Amino acid sequence: MNGITLLRESCKGTEDCGICIFVCPKDIFVNSEEPNDAGYVPPGIKNEEQCTACRNCMISCPDFAIVVEKAPSNPPDEKVGLDG
Ligand code: SF4
Ligand code: SF4
Repeated sequence: MNGITLLRESCKGTEDCGICIFVCPKDIFVNSEEPNDAGYVPPGIKNEEQCTACRNCMISCPDFAIVVEKAPSNPPDEKVGLDG
């Protein structure tokens, strides 16, 4: 599964920003009510398994508060020894 990491303390809050909510084609970011230490309210995440790892959110977040990691689509190739 693709992984979304939200750096809550870096977020300026969905009320003042909310770009991630706007740009995600899967509506994975939602309004939340839990503030960070600075008093801003970062988005919640729902249905993370539907994330396509398009990285719209990661590229668009002005505070670099989102990191998206794409799950490997294929298992790693078998290692072939140097001597064949
Ligand atoms: S990577 Fe794409 S699908 Fe996944 S949460 Fe970000 S914008 Fe949504
Ligand atoms: S785009 Fe970034 S700063 Fe803006 S609400 Fe989303 S996570 Fe927070």
